Amino acid sequence: MSTDYAACMDIGGTFIKYSLVDINGTVVGLKKKKTSKEGKEGLLAQVFDIIEEMLNSANGGNVIGIGISSAGQVNHWRGEVLSATDNLPGWVGIDLKSIIENKYNTTCQIDNDVKCAALGEMHFGAAKNVKDFVCITIGTGVGGAIVENGRLLRGNNGIAGEVGHMVIRKGGRKCNCGNYGCYEQYASVTALKATVAKKLRKTYLPYDTGVEWLFERYNEDERLRAVIDRYAEDIALGIVSLVSIANPSYVIIGGAVSSCELLMDKVTELAYERVMPVFKRSLKIVRALRGNEASLLGVSTYIFGY
Ligand SMILES: [Zn+2]
Repeated sequence: MSTDYAACMDIGGTFIKYSLVDINGTVVGLKKKKTSKEGKEGLLAQVFDIIEEMLNSANGGNVIGIGISSAGQVNHWRGEVLSATDNLPGWVGIDLKSIIENKYNTTCQIDNDVKCAALGEMHFGAAKNVKDFVCITIGTGVGGAIVENGRLLRGNNGIAGEVGHMVIRKGGRKCNCGNYGCYEQYASVTALKATVAKKLRKTYLPYDTGVEWLFERYNEDERLRAVIDRYAEDIALGIVSLVSIANPSYVIIGGAVSSCELLMDKVTELAYERVMPVFKRSLKIVRALRGNEASLLGVSTYIFGY
């Protein structure tokens, strides 16, 4: 019998990752391409190319639908991208689901990348058998998803869970959403790098590399230590608020910083210190397990009707 596949892609501001996925969560050869910067038409053409590459790679298998996880705010029900970062020019307002369904005559499901990642972790990763959890992804920005009784919290037009734009400082740093003091201006990797550059006078550049090198120097440099401690505290503050709102049993942290044990330990310790005891009893703060694959796995569950 031939295998059924979902053709899945995850569209980020920097890379598009893609793979066929089967019903058991097997990711068949993850690939990635740099995201087109040619505006709407360029990006759409790239999406079509990738879909065709996946359809041609099914090797006798059966592609039963196309799943698209995208950065930006997505209305899953209508299949529309409601807003997107500056990294995806022209993506706003695009009716992606209809465009793809009409072109390929197959079902297409789309959702926000962090919501997809949360579903991926729920079915195949850190949140297996966990019904109530909050997912926070910390990278260039801060994304989030809230799952209650096994279902994503969507809100009025499908975009609930934008935890990066909770305000944690009155009159704080300006955010690209137009507001001031948003969580992602303090908890993102971008924010950490900016603070390091400012406070440590570029001692630790090159700026473009990952953040592991910063944490490796934690014990050597007192000023760096102070910056990282404050950073961990800011991440923890957001967690404390989210725990009060959602009463999750797990908080799952994904993205670049989750691979750093030192930071995870600090964040966990600081969050536990501040969370109300009644919430703390059953609370675990853990790292995401499926990394790059989580959003592909998550969007595949829509195609397979989980
Ligand atoms: Zn904001």
